[in-house]
Amino acid sequence: MILQLEGLTAGYGAAPVLRDIHLEVPQGSIVTVLGPNGAGKTTLLRTIAGLLKPTTGRILFDGDDLRGVRVEHLVRRGLALVPEGRGVITELTVEENLRLGGLWRKDSAATMSEVYELFEPLARRNKSMGHQLSGGERQMLAIGRALMARPRLLLLDEPSLGLAPKVTAQIMSLLRQLRDNDGLSVLLVEQNARSALSIADAAVAMSLGRLAETSSGDMRAAYLGS
Ligand code: ATP
Repeated sequence: MILQLEGLTAGYGAAPVLRDIHLEVPQGSIVTVLGPNGAGKTTLLRTIAGLLKPTTGRILFDGDDLRGVRVEHLVRRGLALVPEGRGVITELTVEENLRLGGLWRKDSAATMSEVYELFEPLARRNKSMGHQLSGGERQMLAIGRALMARPRLLLLDEPSLGLAPKVTAQIMSLLRQLRDNDGLSVLLVEQNARSALSIADAAVAMSLGRLAETSSGDMRAAYLGS
């Protein structure tokens, strides 16, 4: 298992947002957490990424307890978060945004070529400013920037938000490619059940800060009626 959550509880004040979360992400697989607005999906990713301290429970990455590990060390260990709303710096070019993602790596030039190979539209627009990009291109850039750190586990917060179905399908197929070719593990949080389930190896539903584990077959039936 690349990631194990054991009895995780976290929140912003007195009342917990996440309640007793147990979740496992096997190495090289895509696990999706589906749930409505406000279920706690973003809070879950922020807690795993070290931006929010859990009140109780453990987060194990490659079997190591992440308690007390600083955010920059989490990135070095191979954990990358792509936040909701894309987090692209709009006043910088595509290339400058990518460079930021690989700042501490010596091999970042080679990684950048790989990212450009993967996201062809970014290669064409490498000198464009962030604000000149379409929604789909911005999402690609956000993922590309995370990939510059050569993560082994990618935490993705609603990558389909605001994108046309065709562009979402493109993003999902890229994630599948990264899993199949590079063994990347992905924890994908989505409201868009159809696109997430199209690539997920396992799916769990989140509601009011709790997870209900089911097989992705059951989830398809529940969410898509098929
Ligand atoms: P969304 O799709 O809107 O991001 P979500 O499932 O990701 O929904 P969260 O953003 O994790 O849900 O929010 C879960 C709960 O935590 C909500 O009730 C929200 O009001 C609360 N919450 C989120 N961020 C904060 C914060 N910074 N301070 C206090 N409460 C917060």
